[in-house]
Amino acid sequence: DNAQPKKPSWIRVKAPVGKGYQDTARIMRDNKLVTVCEEAGCPNVGECWSQGHATMMIMGDICTRGCSFCNIATGKPQALDLFEPGRVADAVAKLGLNHVVITSVDRDDLEDGGAEHFAMTIRAIRKRAPGTTIEILTPDFLKCAASVLETVVAAKPDVFNHNLETVPGLYPSVRPGARYFHSLRLLQRIKELDPTIFTKSGIMVGLGEDRQGVLQVMDDMRAADVDFLTIGQYLQPTPKHHAVDRFVHPDEFAAYEKAAYGKGFLMVSATPLTRSSYHAGDDFARLRDA
Ligand code: SF4
Ligand code: SF4
Repeated sequence: DNAQPKKPSWIRVKAPVGKGYQDTARIMRDNKLVTVCEEAGCPNVGECWSQGHATMMIMGDICTRGCSFCNIATGKPQALDLFEPGRVADAVAKLGLNHVVITSVDRDDLEDGGAEHFAMTIRAIRKRAPGTTIEILTPDFLKCAASVLETVVAAKPDVFNHNLETVPGLYPSVRPGARYFHSLRLLQRIKELDPTIFTKSGIMVGLGEDRQGVLQVMDDMRAADVDFLTIGQYLQPTPKHHAVDRFVHPDEFAAYEKAAYGKGFLMVSATPLTRSSYHAGDDFARLRDA
């Protein structure tokens, strides 16, 4: 798409180098794990991996959905690997993580959407690495019985993240197959089921939304009792993906952060390179120790 705006100077991506990076890469490979850091081509991979932060993706690398911003392959996923929760837990222990983020592809092919697999993974990590705080970033379980959410909540992740991704008006072009109010309600139900779990959500900007729309999403999230918020610049993974509408200036991100704290979020990350899992552990530790 030759109408794409030029990448500004504040989108700087550091090359993945250093021993920490190699060690993380080796442990992931040995344990046959998929990371979002690699799959999504995340711009922070050099920094995060050098520090031993990573986001692991369970239930395979083929998704039943095809969001227009996402670089993960769409298709018919593989059968679930029942040994995967153990391998994830093993990697978490070997990496000595303080905080781990576990996410997955969308599994509309499974009756429970993968809820039990998430719960098993949380339990396996608790057993192998009891000192590690656990953040999960889940799909929307849109086609499942309402009770599957209880399965995941009962496993007691420390942070339950589900991203709204964008403003409701852009759902048909950005997140086809998802429903804004379903996702919002999911966030609210987590808090209703277990108020001790922190809830978290995020959006990307630069997809064509306007400021008023972003502020409205914040209000919707707060009405659903969401605790943490992330806002980052959308970057187009390949020319076939959703176009970048514009690059949001760092000052605008700072203004979003200020507005969000004003609305009562406990923790906000809003910068061009903010990703759902960027510095998640540091932020969480800061909050816990506060
Ligand atoms: Fe991985 Fe998240 Fe860091 Fe990106 S921000 S490299 S996805 S841990
Ligand atoms: Fe990517 Fe998640 Fe959408 Fe699947 S549901 S295409 S993994 S963003």
